[in-house]
Amino acid sequence: MPEVADIFRLHGARYLERFGQTMLPSHRRALRDLCNCRTAALGGQLYVCDHCGREHYVYHSCRNRACPKCHGKDTEAWLVARRQELLPVPYFHVVFTLPQELRDLMRQHQKILYPILMQAAARALMKLAADPHYVGGLIGVLAVLHTWSRTLIYHPHIHCLVPGGGLSADGQWRPAREGYLVPVRALSPIFRGIFLDLVTSALPDVAIPDSVRKRAWVVYCKPTVQGAENVLTYLGRYVHRIAITDRRILAVEDGKVTFRYQNARTHQWRTMTLTVEEFIRRFLQHVLPRGVHKVRYYGLWAPSNKDKLQQIRQSLTTEDAGRALPSAEKSNGAVSPQAGSAPARCSFCQKGSLLFLRRVPAQQRSPP
Ligand SMILES: [Zn+2]
Ligand SMILES: [Zn+2]
Repeated sequence: MPEVADIFRLHGARYLERFGQTMLPSHRRALRDLCNCRTAALGGQLYVCDHCGREHYVYHSCRNRACPKCHGKDTEAWLVARRQELLPVPYFHVVFTLPQELRDLMRQHQKILYPILMQAAARALMKLAADPHYVGGLIGVLAVLHTWSRTLIYHPHIHCLVPGGGLSADGQWRPAREGYLVPVRALSPIFRGIFLDLVTSALPDVAIPDSVRKRAWVVYCKPTVQGAENVLTYLGRYVHRIAITDRRILAVEDGKVTFRYQNARTHQWRTMTLTVEEFIRRFLQHVLPRGVHKVRYYGLWAPSNKDKLQQIRQSLTTEDAGRALPSAEKSNGAVSPQAGSAPARCSFCQKGSLLFLRRVPAQQRSPP
């Protein structure tokens, strides 16, 4: 089956020739890294089978954030660590979407505006939750930036995972009402207001279309009925991943790419065919600029609240001792090794074990 890297290897050079002049450095780097991932270009290690004597090359991975082949283990490690942080309370899943009219602006100022979008979402939630009508305390917000739709369209939005409760001014835990965090209708204009204020002070010269000031911005807020862990798993898939996985690529032929995607509403699988050029363009628009974080923590999760949070966790756990706690597996700090590890068995003879022979230096290969 073809992979994203194959598309770049076959068609990247032509794409660079046509658009290289105007491409962002992060996009050019992603193109190069994905082509080189797990190839001789990055070097690696040479093993030999102790049975049939055949040689096995295990090449380094590129570790680029946009690489669909790297980061599988990072996702696991991330999930293990996040599960440990979960409080034994109901959680809410809140999604904030940027209006379509502002997508071009966002695209032009990604480094400044992605953090602002995340901050506006978190601040709006914290502001409304602090109201004694709702939670009456400081909530914690785990925010994750997504930029893609299932067909790789540019669609920036923020997913937030929020515990149903917060810390009151006198240090007590205040649970949210059952199945209810904050009113979405009130949340939307607060989010819009904070976002536009932050944009205006960061980029005083940009013009904001009047229409977006009048319209309600799309905000979704639901209790996590299947548990916070499910939402975490869903989010974890995105944290270390780029817009499309290799498994979704069906064919690359005649200058066209066919891939499958799941319809967001019907959940039915469909296929889509794009020209290679359009596919590469759509893919690269989700490569984040260097230094932009996909995940941020706000409010109760701030490092300054660490001790208080520990106390809350203990008191909630003793109060609720009968309830099953979220699985708190011990993180083994697993981080993918830079080189892919050698398979345990020889893939040629299926009998021998592999012995390390020597390091293979990286080849200075020019970009595609
Ligand atoms: Zn062998
Ligand atoms: Zn890679």
